[in-house]
Amino acid sequence: MPDILNAASADEYATAVGAVVDRLAARFQTVSQPFSGASRADLQSLVDAVDLDAAGIGTADALRELDDLFVEHAVWFHDPAYLAHLNCPVAVPAVAAESILAAMNPSLDTYDQSTVGTLMERRLVEWTAARIGFADGDGVFTSGGTLSNLQGLLLAREAAVAAARADLGLTRSDAIARLVVLATDSSHFSVQKSALLLGLADDAVELVPVDAEGRMRPSELAASVAGLVAAGRLPMAVVATAGTTDRGRIDPLAAIADVCDREGIWLHVDAAYGCGLLVSPTRRDLLAGIERARSVTVDFHKSFFQPVSSSAIVVRDRVDLAAIAWHADYLNPLENAEPNQVDKSLQTTRRFDALKLWATLRALGADGIGALFDRVVDLAADVRRAVGASDDLELVGGSDLSTVLFRYAPVGCPEPESDRLVPLIRRVLFESGRAHVAKTVIDGRPCLKLTLLNPETTLAQVEAVLDLVRASGEALRDAAHLDEASESLAAEAAR
Ligand SMILES: *Cc1c(COP(=O)(O)O)cnc(C)c1O
Repeated sequence: MPDILNAASADEYATAVGAVVDRLAARFQTVSQPFSGASRADLQSLVDAVDLDAAGIGTADALRELDDLFVEHAVWFHDPAYLAHLNCPVAVPAVAAESILAAMNPSLDTYDQSTVGTLMERRLVEWTAARIGFADGDGVFTSGGTLSNLQGLLLAREAAVAAARADLGLTRSDAIARLVVLATDSSHFSVQKSALLLGLADDAVELVPVDAEGRMRPSELAASVAGLVAAGRLPMAVVATAGTTDRGRIDPLAAIADVCDREGIWLHVDAAYGCGLLVSPTRRDLLAGIERARSVTVDFHKSFFQPVSSSAIVVRDRVDLAAIAWHADYLNPLENAEPNQVDKSLQTTRRFDALKLWATLRALGADGIGALFDRVVDLAADVRRAVGASDDLELVGGSDLSTVLFRYAPVGCPEPESDRLVPLIRRVLFESGRAHVAKTVIDGRPCLKLTLLNPETTLAQVEAVLDLVRASGEALRDAAHLDEASESLAAEAAR
C-alpha cells in the first residue's frame, strides 16, 4: 500500500516531496510579482473544474495539479512588492523544520505523544519568558495571537472571578456580569471577540482615550478605572498593545503597569507584532515595562520570520495557568506525573510549532533574528522619510515598528477625492498582481498602509511600489474626470 508514509513508501515520499521542493525552488528563483493577477472568476472556475469525486490520479499528478492551481495563483509574501499585511517571509531553517513536522506529525498534548518535543517546547517558552523578563514564567504555544489573547483574557477572568468571590462574596455569574476589560480602539479586534467568547457583558470592553498616535493615555486609564469602580464594575484586565496592527505603536507599558499595580488589575500585553523587539540588538528598550505584565501574547509568525502557525501565550506566574487545567482519565489523569502540555492549553491535539523556532534560533541566533527585525524597522523609517518628502503623497503619523500609513494626495486633489482613491488604488494594484498594499481607516479617514516585514527589501523597491501607487492614482483620477465629463456631455445631450 503506497501513499501512506512508512518504510515501504519512504522512497516514494522522498521523490514526491523532492519534486515539490524542486518546483518551488525554481518558482522562488523566477517569481517577479506577488500575485498572478488572475480574476476571482477565473480562480473560481479553476477550483470548480476539479472533480473531487473522481478516481484518484496518483501522488505525482495530484501534486503537479496543485502547482498549477495553487502555487501558480497564491500570494508570494517574500516578493518585495508584497507590502500589505503582517505576513512575513519565512526563514529557511524554519521551513525545513516544518517539513519534519509534516512527515512525523507529532502532537504536543501529552508527553507520551511528544516526549522530547514537550521538553523542547518548554525550553522555548522559558526562553521567551526570560526575554520578556519573567523570572519564573510559563506558557504554551498557540495557533496565533487571537488564541493567545483569548487565553490571556480567560486567565485574567478566572483571577478576577476568584477575587470577586473571595473578597466580595459574589457568585461566578454575578462577578462575570460586572467584569470590564480596558483596551483602546487601536487594540486588536480579538480583544472584543474574546470578551464575547468569555461571556462578558455587551459593554465589557471599555475603550480608553488615546493620544494623537493611538497610544493609550495612562492618566485616562486611571480615570476610566476610577469611573468603573465607582459604578460598581470590576476591571478585570488592561490590554496594552506593543505594536498596534495599523500604526505599529507601543502603548506606554511602564506607566500602564503603574496603574495596574496600584489598582490590582491584570495587565495583558499584546505583543503579537512587537515581539520581534525581544531579540532586537538595538531596540529592546522600546518594550521596557513588558516584564510587569501578568500575561503576554507573542506571534513568532509575524516578527520572527516563522511559517504560520507559531504563537505563544506567556504568563509571569506559572500558577496562573492552572486555572484552565482539566483532566481526562484516558489522556492526562490528575495523578499522572508526566509533563502534559495539554494541561496548559486550550487546544488538545496541537502542532509542534516550537520546532521551527528552535531550528531558526539555532541557525541564526537570537541576535540574528533580531537584526532582521531591526532591518524592517529601519526600512520603514526610510520609507516614511521618502513619503514625507514627496509632494504627491501624504504621510499619516509615525510608527515604532514597520508600518507606513499614507494617502495619494497630489497638489490640487481635494481631501474627499484623496479618500475615495484609497480603496480604488489598493484594488487596482491587487488586481494587477504587481503590488499588494493594504488600506485602513485612521482618525476617521481612509489611508493606504504598507507593512514592511521583508528584511531584504530595499528602499528603491518600495519606492517602485510608491510609483505604482502614483501611476494608478493618476489613471483613476483621469478616468473619474472622464466619467464626469462624459456624464455632463450625456446630460447636455439629453437636454
Ligand atoms: C495579528 C495580531 C493579532 C492576531 O494574531 P493572529 O496570529 O492573526 O491570530 C493580535 N494582536 C495584534 C496586535 C496583531 O497584530
